[in-house]
Formats: sequence, structure tokens, C-alpha cells
Amino acid sequence: MNRELPLFPVSVVGSLPRGAGAQRALRDWARGRTDHVDGQAGDHAVLAALALQDGAGVDIVSDGEQRRDNFYSFLAEGVDGIRLLALSELLNWVEDKAAFERLLQALDVPAFAIRNPVVDGPLRRRRPLAAEEVRFVRAHTDRPVKVALPGPYLLTRSMWVKALSEEHYPTKESLGDDVVTLLRAELSDAIDAGADFVQLDEPVLTEVAFAGPHETHSFMCAALSEKASPEEELEFAVELVNRVVEGFGAVRTGLHVCRGNWSQDEGVLLRGAYDPLVPYFARMRVDQLVLEYATERAGSLDALAELPAELEIGLGVCDPRSAEVEDPAEMAGRVRELMVHRKPEKVFLNPDCGFGTFAERPVNTSELAAAKLAGLHAAAELLRAEHAGHPGPVLGAGRR
Ligand SMILES: [Zn+2]
Repeated sequence: MNRELPLFPVSVVGSLPRGAGAQRALRDWARGRTDHVDGQAGDHAVLAALALQDGAGVDIVSDGEQRRDNFYSFLAEGVDGIRLLALSELLNWVEDKAAFERLLQALDVPAFAIRNPVVDGPLRRRRPLAAEEVRFVRAHTDRPVKVALPGPYLLTRSMWVKALSEEHYPTKESLGDDVVTLLRAELSDAIDAGADFVQLDEPVLTEVAFAGPHETHSFMCAALSEKASPEEELEFAVELVNRVVEGFGAVRTGLHVCRGNWSQDEGVLLRGAYDPLVPYFARMRVDQLVLEYATERAGSLDALAELPAELEIGLGVCDPRSAEVEDPAEMAGRVRELMVHRKPEKVFLNPDCGFGTFAERPVNTSELAAAKLAGLHAAAELLRAEHAGHPGPVLGAGRR
């Protein structure tokens, strides 16, 4: 069944700051004190996240990733063959230790708090992860539900650490095959559980596009010496993404690409326009690109002019890291700029990224997250008034 959304639907990229109970449950699990994240603490936190989004007027809601330690490490809870290492532990295994250490310091990364999944055995899924999250949200809201999964390129790049992974996966490509299988199973189960919008998070594509073959600007790519040319890496990313989404036309799929969201210090986050990525974006068979544009580090909206007309843009118009709440009129103005080359029904509104990508280091408070999301809703209302009568996008099959 197709269901019409309002024009300029407001959504989130994924995470919201965790409540104290959820934080504690995640910490106990990550430190090995329990073998699973306490479900009740998670339930409680998700209900609070839903209430926050409801109050702010978010049209497509998520569970705020309240049950996740971070947006990609959570896989370790249900998949064999993955070991979680704090970045400070990972230092023991990377090939160029000095460079990695310098990077962590320069980038203001909390090396003891952020856990990185690393492959140390054959990947085998013990149970569905995203589907469990979706099922709970679905049972507690009438709104359309979005769920994010770590993208296949991010997982393949960040989880393959030669010293630990080589025995089971001789190359990154061989790991990529099993990552695709894993994500297709997650996607399929999330749809069955009632997800309306599944987003793949690929924050490291920007690093690939902006850095040369021997440089690395992001701590999320642990296999420092294993990067091919940017062109080859981006081709690999296109192939992986398309293999994951192939055949899932009945659900809206999205790809989120930002420049990192681990610090409130703008100076340490990546900078660069999307231009070098656009030819690759154009070939990814997803319905929507969820892009950050509130930060001036993302460059001009003109970069998107060449993208296929049917591709939706989830436009980032507020900064999840800043203390000021953006002016709805200014945000609406930004959307009008995009509409020079994009039809109104192809534009969604969202913050640039999550408000709590890493559980122990949220980039904002729940109060500010709520105020910023309410601002997005106000911007959407301004735009809706200008396009009254124009049909909104629909949920369901057959968009692309
Ligand atoms: Zn992001």
C-alpha cells in the first residue's frame, strides 16, 4: 500500500543522545560485564526518543539508535567473527602505529571510548539486529520508521585489519562478499519488521574522495596501508552498495554521506565539496542521498545539479553539533536553493548527521536536539505553505 507523506518530510539521520540508563547498559556490554545490552534500558530510552521526535514534529522517526554503542560497532552483538577494539587497542594491530597515533591525537578522537569492529573470524549472523529495533519502534508509533545500517564499504574498509583478518579473508574484496550477504539479510529482515526507509551510512566516502592513496584522514579506516586509488575505492563502494540494495524496490533506500561527526571542533573534521563523489552517487541505485549541507565544509549545492532528477535529496539544513538553533526561514531558503534543480517532492529535510553517533560522546543535548528538530519542522511548514496542493512523496514501491 502506498501512503502519501507531507511535502518536505522531516527525518533524522539516526542517532539521538542516549539516556543515562541506556548509556550504562551499553557500557556494561561493551566492557564485557554482560553478554547482551540490557533490553529494558533500551526500551525505555527508545520510547523517550520517540516522544522527543513526536513532540518536535518529525515525520519519519528512528529509534534514536538508543541500543547501539555506535553506528557500526553494534553489529558485534549479533554477528560472530567480529571483535570490538577500542581505538587505543587497535593501535597494537595497525601497520603504521606512529601515523595512527598521530591521527588520533590530531583528530580529537576519544581513543579509549570509541570501539571499532574488526574481523577476526568468518562473519556469521547469529540473529537479526536492525529488525529487532524496527519491530519495537513499529509497535510504538504510527509514523513511518527509518532505520540506519552501516554501509558495506565502511564495514569492509574499517573491519579488515590485516594482522587479524587475513587468515579468514585474504583480501578486502573477499570480506566484501560476506558483508554484502550480511547486510542483505539485515535489510530483508528490517523490511519484514516494518521499516519504511533503510539508510546505509557511508561517512568514509568523503575521506576516500578528498585524500590521496597514501593519506588517511579518518580513524574509521583502520587498514591504513590498504587503500587503492580513490577511483578504484569509489568503484568498489558503488559495486558493494548496489549489490546490497538490488531487488529491494519495495522500501525506500538511502545513502548517508558526511565528513565525520565525532567532535564539536569544526577544525578537526574533514572539509571538501561533494563534486568528486557525484559521478559515483549517480550510479548508486538508492532512492535518496542524505547529505550534510548545514556545515560550510560541505561546499556548494551546485555540486548536486548533475544528479539524476528522480534521486531524492535528504538535505542537511541544521548542524547537530552547534549550540544555536537555526532560523527556520534561513533553512527554508537553503531548500529553495536546492529546488533550482530538484522538484519539491524529491526533497526531505534532516540534520547534517546524528546527535549521538558515538554513545559516550553525543555531540549535543537532548534538549537542543529537540529544539533543532522542531526548527526543521517549522522550516518544512513554511515551504509546505508555498507549495500547497503539490503532491508529496509516497511510501512504498516503485520510485526508482
Ligand atoms: Zn553522518
